[in-house]
Amino acid sequence: MSLTLYKKKRSFNETPEPKGKKKSSARSLKFVVQKHDATQLHYDFRLEMEGALKSWAIPKGPSLNPQDKRLAMMVEDHPFDYRTFEGTIPAGNYGAGTVMVWDEGTYTAMGFEEEPIKKQEKILLEEMKKGDVKIVLDGEKLKGAFALVKIKGRGENTWLLIKKQDAAATDKDVTKKDKSVKTNRTLNQIAQDAGGNPKEKKSLTKKTPKPPELLNNRSKKNTRVKKKSTT
Ligand code: MN
Repeated sequence: MSLTLYKKKRSFNETPEPKGKKKSSARSLKFVVQKHDATQLHYDFRLEMEGALKSWAIPKGPSLNPQDKRLAMMVEDHPFDYRTFEGTIPAGNYGAGTVMVWDEGTYTAMGFEEEPIKKQEKILLEEMKKGDVKIVLDGEKLKGAFALVKIKGRGENTWLLIKKQDAAATDKDVTKKDKSVKTNRTLNQIAQDAGGNPKEKKSLTKKTPKPPELLNNRSKKNTRVKKKSTT
């Protein structure tokens, strides 16, 4: 586990995100899912392992339906304290946009629920290496067994998050629950409380205005992407 890449990408005198430090839970492993309205809306799925957070960006968000295979792009490890970060990353910074703590809770290594944390971490790290991680989540929105499976031959970072069939499985769209588990705010409310949408500020500072035909294409494209991500 290394936070070097995390630190390299950020200017801590500009962003309110936590500085990288290793830390761990005492009794149970934590997970968090952060909804992140950056260039593209996505959900950041993070699992505590060895004092840091293993992280995947999931464009469509997690699903409780075992038939959905959600693309999960592995990103840099994040510091343990990141799991409580909610707010806005200012324009011009890496990941600029609003961040919500969409879900949080504890998790276990599936089949090893009764083992001590250290043992579970060891098993999970072995499963990470094999590209087949099986976990049981106990969050407010996400519950039950999930698999994170690395896709072979598609680079180092391409994984799928798949719900396993169990009592928590449902075809109801869990992403319709769109408020923070920490503050019960929507993304818009979080952005407003922080003084507006950092993505809008960013577009205001663009130097050259786009010709109207380009703007039209762009807004059409954005609408399409938005529709996709909300269904
Ligand atoms: Mn993100």
